[in-house]
Amino acid sequence: MTTAIFPGSFNPFTIGHLSIARRAAAIFDKVVIAVGVNLNKTTEDEVGSRIRIIEKAISGLPNVSVISYSGLTVDICHQLGAGVIVRGLRNSSDFNYEQQLAEVNRRIAGIETVFINSLPEYACISSSMVRELKHYGLSVDEFIP
Ligand code: ADP
Repeated sequence: MTTAIFPGSFNPFTIGHLSIARRAAAIFDKVVIAVGVNLNKTTEDEVGSRIRIIEKAISGLPNVSVISYSGLTVDICHQLGAGVIVRGLRNSSDFNYEQQLAEVNRRIAGIETVFINSLPEYACISSSMVRELKHYGLSVDEFIP
């Protein structure tokens, strides 16, 4: 049984993230979305609401679950017996950053990273863009599940 972790900040969880989770769920037996939090910067209420939004979005995906964690992603992988990290790639900037991260995680913990290419229609969606639109009072409904 292969368990994969899909880690991220998911602040907020977008339809781009959901698409990656759904596609990962078709490849791996179990996918755990792991919301990485720094409790010095994020309140427990904020984490709770982020988790609830994701739980609702994945309700139709029986082999996908969500947790929150703080600390190193490879540590949560070991705790859950997950040998694979899933990350989404939108463009070459994602690739440059992710390649480095993947290599470090492989070296320090033997954890492999599997990249899933964004569907073209989601490649322009980022949490920071959604936060910015929200900040200026614009609707973000089309970008979040
Ligand atoms: P982090 O803060 O760890 O980068 P994010 O929540 O921004 O976390 O993203 C989590 C993962 O989802 C990353 O691998 C990121 O590249 C990927 N991702 C984000 N938005 C999209 C999208 N629209 N399509 C595909 N993958 C995405």
